[in-house]
Amino acid sequence: STLLDFRDVDLVFPDGTAALDGVDLTVDRGEFVSIVGPSGCGKSTLLRIASGLESASGGAADVSTSRIGYVFQDATLLPWRSVQGNVELLAELNRAAKVDRTAKAAAAIGLVGLNGFEKHLPKQLSGGMKMRVSLARSLTLDPELFLFDEPFGALDEITRERLNDELLRLFTEQRFAGLFVTHSVSEAVYLSTKVVVMSGRPGSIVARFDVPFPMP
Ligand code: ADP
Ligand code: ADP
Repeated sequence: STLLDFRDVDLVFPDGTAALDGVDLTVDRGEFVSIVGPSGCGKSTLLRIASGLESASGGAADVSTSRIGYVFQDATLLPWRSVQGNVELLAELNRAAKVDRTAKAAAAIGLVGLNGFEKHLPKQLSGGMKMRVSLARSLTLDPELFLFDEPFGALDEITRERLNDELLRLFTEQRFAGLFVTHSVSEAVYLSTKVVVMSGRPGSIVARFDVPFPMP
């Protein structure tokens, strides 16, 4: 079934900047869709519309789930909170009971391979570990749709490759659908079931292709 359905989506910002023009995009359950394209072509804007942070100015942008994960290049951790405290944050904002959010956070910390680091503070972690914390925090929502805005763009190449493998494993185990923005065509092909290429200002989709996905 379809989780995200964009039909002929346009976005013009209040200052007159046209960011998106006629974008048609669907993301179904079981799909991991990457969007590649140059800086400024509207990739982040598209994710912001998918998340509800921004509204389309034309067309129809339907998202049929409210369980949406969203991670950015900046892991956006609270520096005074431990790993456990950071991962509990979203469950806390959703007013989950303490015992539930502790259990959810513990499970998510396990999923991203950070067992034993629960009491560490962000400043004690490497960039790759901070990104794992950010992924774990979104996983506590049991996302059906997971949005990624160039999450590994600031990491060194080896850490990035490790996290790509972690993400592939999470995708196959946790069964969320993915929408992943990157500048890197090779990263997009490695991770995805489908690649969408954007270009232009305003941005539009100029190519799409399916990737034979190696299920483990
Ligand atoms: P990135 O490639 O990381 O998305 P950008 O330079 O395209 O970086 O944009 C960074 C942020 O700056 C955007 O997310 C947007 O909120 C803001 N921004 C970019 N261009 C404008 C603009 N013309 N007017 C107002 N805000 C802008
Ligand atoms: P990308 O993520 O592909 O780098 P963005 O989605 O950040 O591109 O931006 C698409 C276009 O919209 C760019 O030209 C950017 O400058 C512009 N833009 C982004 N945010 C705003 C904003 N809040 N107001 C005006 N223009 C913006």
